[in-house]
This record gives sequence, structure tokens and C-alpha cells, in this order.
Amino acid sequence: MTHKTPEAPPYPKSHILAASGVAALLSLALLVFPSREVEAQKTFIELDLGNEAELVLQEKDDLRQKQLPQELSSPFARIEQPSDSVANAAPAQSTEPASLDTIEAPTPTPQPNHHSITVSSGDTLSTVFSKVGLNANDLHQALNSSKQAKQFGRLQVGQVLDFELDKEGKLKQLQTRLSDLETIRLVRDDKGFDFQSEQIKPEVVTRYSHGVINSSLFLSAKRAGLSHNLTMELANIFGYDIDFAMDIREGDEFEAIYEEKVVNGKSVGTGNILSARFTNRGKTYTAVRYTSKQGTTSYYNANGESMRKAFIRTPVDFARISSRFSTGRKHPILNKIRAHKGVDYAAPRGTPIKAAGDGRVTLAGRNGGYGNTVIIQHGQRYRTLYAHMQGFAKGIRNGVNVKQGQIIGYIGTTGLSTGPHLHYEFQVNGVHVDPLSQKLPMADPIAASEKKRFMQLSKPLMARMDQEKATLLAANRQQ
Ligand SMILES: [Zn+2]
Repeated sequence: MTHKTPEAPPYPKSHILAASGVAALLSLALLVFPSREVEAQKTFIELDLGNEAELVLQEKDDLRQKQLPQELSSPFARIEQPSDSVANAAPAQSTEPASLDTIEAPTPTPQPNHHSITVSSGDTLSTVFSKVGLNANDLHQALNSSKQAKQFGRLQVGQVLDFELDKEGKLKQLQTRLSDLETIRLVRDDKGFDFQSEQIKPEVVTRYSHGVINSSLFLSAKRAGLSHNLTMELANIFGYDIDFAMDIREGDEFEAIYEEKVVNGKSVGTGNILSARFTNRGKTYTAVRYTSKQGTTSYYNANGESMRKAFIRTPVDFARISSRFSTGRKHPILNKIRAHKGVDYAAPRGTPIKAAGDGRVTLAGRNGGYGNTVIIQHGQRYRTLYAHMQGFAKGIRNGVNVKQGQIIGYIGTTGLSTGPHLHYEFQVNGVHVDPLSQKLPMADPIAASEKKRFMQLSKPLMARMDQEKATLLAANRQQ
């Protein structure tokens, strides 16, 4: 019996888009049916790794929506107006400035002049103000009292605003929590309102994470409990040695010790990766974060050699190589044999393109068949070119300096191009070379004078990863 395949569409150039669509659907399936993960992942291996950055972002959006409170229009949100509000507004006799005590006192017990309003969908600051009996004038006065006060105008559904009114029903104090780490407040004073911001310093703890890749770094990292940001950082740290578009294999392994920010026992975010290890196709790379005595921070391998190179390997994260460097190939549009003097990276439209190294932009504009193009000169010897961009990043124009990794534009298909991709060229002394075969020059290692200090940091971190991994593997064996 033969396996019946669905009709194969005759796609010459739209296959990239088709694949990304399938991947997107799969990712949705993963969200909804976590138990199908294993099954779905098999399909992922056949697809490229290119679309997951986008997918993870989608998931984050999804989570954000799920976290929003559902019952915002509950009657509790409605607060009765104080009976003696505007009607008998007696001339204010006591204009005492708010005392510090009232500012700092948490107000869990309901007070007659305290109103807690939870922002519902469709609310504006104006509708919220009217719920506590304040008018457009009050709103204007509060919102325009300072530049920072404008933050009160950016409301999120579910956000809570705490109003403190005086006996006449006038606004005395307004407070809201922007995040687990920041509360802002307006307190009436002689002149108008005083803006205050209370920052909570989280406790920083270190965590260990370990994962084995069986389809993509993103899925495995997620399973290992790493946030999207940490996964991106991990990819950046090893990005000089490992090409995440080409080199990742099933069975590759990663470990990281990273910072986690905690407030009242609750995680409120992650900080830096302090050390990491990545085993790619049997070869293990190490990374240690180190801040020099002069205050510059960089990642070095466990022996203190820089991980940074003068150029990054791939100017687009998680893209797929769709065409390699060659001295002769058939051009897809011109249909003639032509040298391909660069590497093509296929990725969804709008994917950011990064400067491969520090340098100066010598061209940012239309360039014939290359479409929207950026050329960067790196010192005397090197030049890189990025073509077919959808558009340029903000501030990218002729003559500006760019930093390595800085976003210079976005994937598009301008000029002579059959689909969204980056055409990337690398020149050494004016000669085109294959960027994939180039041995890239290294940045400087740890200064000799700081080697001892570095090793004092590096050794315990490596030892801790050894130990944590051994413990984890032993625990897994017992299950
Ligand atoms: Zn090309």
C-alpha cells in the first residue's frame, strides 16, 4: 500500500512562505495541545529553524492576553461618588501639604476618601477620573503637572489606580503600580502635584538550566525553563562560534547559570547569563561573563579568551541559507549563469538584519538590482553588503557609524529578488570572499593583569555547572 500524499503544489519560490505558514500552525497546535509536542516536533526537524523567533513572540503575546483579568466590568470597579463632593465645595481653608506619613502608609483598609479603580477595556484616564467624581479639569491638572505624570495616561487593562480625595472631593493623591518593580504617585502640593516613583530593588538569585536539543534551540530552551530573552542571549553569546542557522543538531546540549530577579518570593524577570556551555556536534564551547576593572563587560571562554570576533557569523538570527557563495550558478531571474558573490539568508519579511561588525555606513539606499542596500566599511580591509532590504533601521544613512550587532534594516525582497531574503556579501581588500568559509579575526583576550581575577570567577562557575548537571542527570536516572 502506498502512502497517499496530499497534492503537492507546484511551488518554485513560495515554498519558504508555505513552510513558515506550516510552522506557525504547528506552533499554535503546540500551544493548545501540549501533549502533542513530541509528535509535532518531528515535523519541525524537516522544516528549517528560521521561523521560531517569530513564533516565540507570538506565544508571548498570547500569554499576555491570557493573563489579563477577565472580569473587569464587575460592579466592584464602580465607586460611589462621595456625597459631599463638588456641590458644597467650601473655600479650602487648610492647604496643608500632604505629609510624608500619608504617602508611605499602605492603604489596605478601605477609607471613605480612598477609591481603587481597576481599568477595564475601553477605559481612558478620563473615564476613570469620572468614576471617582473628578472632571476633565482635574485630569488636565494632574496629567500636565510634570513630564513624568504623563505616564498615568498610558493605561493597561487590569491596572489599578488608587485615588485619595480630600474632604471636598478634590484629588489629593493618585498612585498606580506600573510593574512588580515600580509604583508611581502624584501627591498634591502647594504648586500642583509632586511626582514620585518608587522602585523596588529585586533580590537577585542564580539559577541553573540544562537542555538537550531535539528539534530547535527555542523549543528545548523553553522546555528547560529559559525565557525568550535568555534564549536570545544564549544564542548571541555563542553566535560567533556556532551558526544557529546551520550547525544545530539533534542531541546538542546547553547549560547556563543565570540571574533571576525575585520580589517577595515571586520571580519578576531574569538578568544576565553568568556562564554557559554549549555542546554542538560533539564540541563543547564555554562562556563566562566578565566585567573588567575598567567596567567593560564581555563574554570569554573559560580560559579567558574572547568569544567576540571582529565579525558575527550570520547577520540574521535563525534564518535559513537559501543560496551559497559560488563562482557560477544560474540566476533565478536573469536565467543566465552568473557568479553568486554572497550568501542568501531566507527569513520572514521584516526580520531584523544586524551589522556584522563595527564600521561606517558608506551606502544606505537603492542600489539597482540589489534593491535597498546597506554597505558597511570595517576599517581598511573589510567591507560587508546587505541587499534586498524591506527598509532601513532608524538612523541608518550614509556616513553614520554602527556597532556590531546593531540592527541596520529588515528582510525584504526589493530589487531583483524572488522572495524575502538577505543577500550578504563580504569583501576583503575589495575581493569578494565566501563569508561562510572565512576564518574570522578574534577580538582581544582578557588582559594579563586581570587573568587571575577572571579565573577566580570562571572556575567556580564551571564547577557549579558540572555539579548541577551531575545532580540533574542522577535525578533523571532515578525516575
Ligand atoms: Zn544573493
